[in-house]
Amino acid sequence: MGDSIDYGNASAACYLNAALSKLPVLVPNAVSICIDCDDAIDACRKQAVPSTKHCSECQQYFDKQHHEGK
Ligand SMILES: [Zn+2]
Repeated sequence: MGDSIDYGNASAACYLNAALSKLPVLVPNAVSICIDCDDAIDACRKQAVPSTKHCSECQQYFDKQHHEGK
């Protein structure tokens, strides 16, 4: 029972990560290293947002710049 609760929390974290990124799912890619800072992209985040090329930190900056540029 305890294991299933833990698993549920992990899944919720994945969904939260995806929701926070607010990215439309584009084309999935094989990028597993952030193109900005060379950090490994979190596997959970990559699963939730297969099209991402940024780690969650850089994605926040990227989104800001992208939205302000429009
Ligand atoms: Zn990064």
